[in-house]
Amino acid sequence: MDKKIIITIDGWSSCGKSTLAKQLARELGYVYIDSGAMYRAITLYFLRNHVDWTKHKAVEDALKHIDLEFQSNHKNGQSEMYLNEENVEYVIRDLVVAEKVSDVAAIREVREFAVRQQQAMGRKKGIVMDGRDIGTVVFPQAELKIFMTADNAIRVERRFRELYEKNPNITIEEVKSNLEMRDYIDSHRAISPLRQAEDALVLDNSKLTIKEQLDIALGWAKERLEHAGNNHKK
Ligand code: C5P
Repeated sequence: MDKKIIITIDGWSSCGKSTLAKQLARELGYVYIDSGAMYRAITLYFLRNHVDWTKHKAVEDALKHIDLEFQSNHKNGQSEMYLNEENVEYVIRDLVVAEKVSDVAAIREVREFAVRQQQAMGRKKGIVMDGRDIGTVVFPQAELKIFMTADNAIRVERRFRELYEKNPNITIEEVKSNLEMRDYIDSHRAISPLRQAEDALVLDNSKLTIKEQLDIALGWAKERLEHAGNNHKK
């Protein structure tokens, strides 16, 4: 099947979007793009350079010095985030960045900067992109839109386990309040708030294994691919 589609995965923080997106991309031979990593890398730059992001001019000037790129890690084949040619894939996952990223991602100039690049990455289709506004704003015409959700307690537990491996001093309360804060800001901001696209398919993975959620999503993708193929048959 040579017809390619765009798959978007949006949803709340830490409900397994990236796990599913990576696996789907691998199964389909598509490119996986982690849009959240771009907002995290911009936030890292702002923090390191003491950019006052409440000032439009400061944000505009800073964005001119930011170059974002995804590069594939030769050892594991995973795509990793580079900020001005530095691999920041690991450091952007830090709680220091997570605490500020939703504020930075709410800024119009920042979103325009990131969305422009995301749309360019999808020009040839064959991508799976996860985030908050991918099905609603970045690719409103995507052939398959998935909206992921999971019980709050399960999401907190998952993110805690992930962060604890890197930093055993972290507490579950810190993780919980960070998730709640990000979900609140992400869904209440004026520009491109997190919401379910009308034509999105909902995937609640609270009680699903990783394999089960992949099978469901793959089924949807194959259905949409067949449909996309038929539409173009003469
Ligand atoms: O997906 P991840 O949790 O890494 O995203 C980090 C943050 O980046 C989110 O909490 C949100 O504030 C922002 N984000 C966004 N739009 C996207 C992806 C992420 O605003 N498409």
